[in-house]
Amino acid sequence: MSVWTLSVGRLTLTVRGNDGDERDAAAEHDARMAAVVAIAADAIVTLDDEGAIDSVNPAAERLFGWSAGELLGTSVVMLLAGPYRDDRAWRAWRAVPELAGGREVTAQRRDGTTFPAELSVGEASVAGRPLVTVIVRDLSERKALEAHLEQVALYDALTGLPNRVLFLDRLAARLREQGAAAVGPAVLFIDVDRFRVVNESLGHERGDQLLRLLAARLQGALGPEELAGRFGADEFLALLEAPTVAAAARRAAQLVEALGELVELGDARAFPSVTIGVAHPEHGAVDAHALTRDAEAAMRRARELGHTIEVFGDELRGRAHERLALENALHEALRNEEFLLHYQPIVEMGSRRIVGVEALVRWEHPTRGLVPPGEFIRAAEESGLITRLGSWVLAEACRQAAQWARSLGPVAPRVSVNLSVRDLLHADLVANVARKLCETGVDPAQLSLEITEDMLEADDAERVSEVLLGLQGLGLHLAVDDFGTGYSSLSRLKRFPVGTLKIDRSFVAGLGVDEDDLAITEAIVAMARALRLGVVAEGVEYAYQAELLCRMGCEHAQGYLFGRPLPAAETTALLQSQAVAAGR
Ligand code: C2E
Ligand code: MG
Ligand code: MG
Repeated sequence: MSVWTLSVGRLTLTVRGNDGDERDAAAEHDARMAAVVAIAADAIVTLDDEGAIDSVNPAAERLFGWSAGELLGTSVVMLLAGPYRDDRAWRAWRAVPELAGGREVTAQRRDGTTFPAELSVGEASVAGRPLVTVIVRDLSERKALEAHLEQVALYDALTGLPNRVLFLDRLAARLREQGAAAVGPAVLFIDVDRFRVVNESLGHERGDQLLRLLAARLQGALGPEELAGRFGADEFLALLEAPTVAAAARRAAQLVEALGELVELGDARAFPSVTIGVAHPEHGAVDAHALTRDAEAAMRRARELGHTIEVFGDELRGRAHERLALENALHEALRNEEFLLHYQPIVEMGSRRIVGVEALVRWEHPTRGLVPPGEFIRAAEESGLITRLGSWVLAEACRQAAQWARSLGPVAPRVSVNLSVRDLLHADLVANVARKLCETGVDPAQLSLEITEDMLEADDAERVSEVLLGLQGLGLHLAVDDFGTGYSSLSRLKRFPVGTLKIDRSFVAGLGVDEDDLAITEAIVAMARALRLGVVAEGVEYAYQAELLCRMGCEHAQGYLFGRPLPAAETTALLQSQAVAAGR
């Protein structure tokens, strides 16, 4: 004979098995099941015919803080909170069949504290008597984890504000609530001015501190029904209750004030400033994405105009349409091979000898004539077309460079090609350039790539540096274009393998007119020399500018004084006449 003794709560089960295998097996099975109940992590209680608790397992004692003795004979609603803590409600509720599948309730411990729980009720009949089992699973941990995951997925870790996804979701819900007829909430796109400068001069920790501070200020300035969010690095969003465009613009002005108050970042003090784009359903878009996109477009327009606040309206919508038309036309132009290159001489100051040429793209438009790059490069960049255009420019410039090398020999000029940021971050730039060099047989030393200063400022400095090192590895020369207009730091300049600085033509234009421009130009030339970099002055139009630059020690220049951008054939003629003159 075999005997098992088991405790289930205060219930002690002693199971005696008779001789005989079958009986033994059944008894063993029962005992095992009882053991499962005893060690289960969930609270398991059974109810008698009257609905009173008649057994509890140890997990129930642990979970609720009651001893089994205290619970036995009481109503199960003792374990529940709120509306469930009521016998009548419990009876009505128990009758619902879905309960067997588990249901979320609030449970209550002996000390009155509550926790989220899943309650499953099962009914069976054992030896002709009904058995009601109630299983209570503590959901606190799962709920906490869910909350944490939601926090991570939907809130920005740095500022704690809703991220873009959640903001758009809430905005969409708000717009739905309001219905199409009502004029809804305004969306503000808020961009922190010169945030990079804070990051670079005071360090990332201070930059983060500033963003947290601005986030808190923004949230503090909004009403209970309004919402702040973080869109990107230094970009915030706000959903405002503003019945009209004018009201939204007024609130934006108040925010500019509120956000712009003095901040102390460690030892540094600063007055942060922001640029805000405003979009309101009164002026167009009524869905969340479109409103946010319009607010962003308005912010960019404000930047272009040097304004603090700009409202999205008819003018911007017109521009958006124009932009679309331009992008389509550019697609066509690429297919129809309507682009061509002009070349502008880069000369040695002293001798005026042409040592290089810059390839500048033009669009031979079927009706508009020759379109300068200023009118389409940006659209090409924003639409992604620049990758194909850039690739064509590079191939054509390489082809031309190789041809000059063959016809002019040692006096062939170095050819400069402009790169766009999109080109630079394109995955296969280095491989692409290598292929073009191979295909055209051009000597890499005869090629210079111009990158703009803002590329050096790109957030992904590692990646930029890697690409530039790759290009340098191919034997190419690298120059920083329009130098002085960005905020690139000396440390970055030193880190990247650039060989030449091209002084932006706005400084050259101010020489002899504006003392600051003179000082800046002098400083750039001195710095280039100190860092052993070449320097080219851009946009030299007058002899007195050349004179001043010469005196500063600037070695090379480019500008209308020395030559305008010309088609390839005319450039070839110019180079040939120079070669002939030199030979004489
Ligand atoms: P950039 O690279 O700084 O090129 C110099 C610009 O200054 C050219 O304008 C040139 O015509 C102009 N320029 C030269 N000398 C003088 C002068 O003495 N006075 C004045 N006022 N202007 C002068 P362009 O050809 O209109 O090109 C404008 C910009 O478009 C270029 O500026 C460059 O950033 C971009 N670009 C041109 N071609 C390409 C290209 O193939 N790819 C890319 N990504 N950008 C290009
Ligand atoms: Mg250039
Ligand atoms: Mg330039």
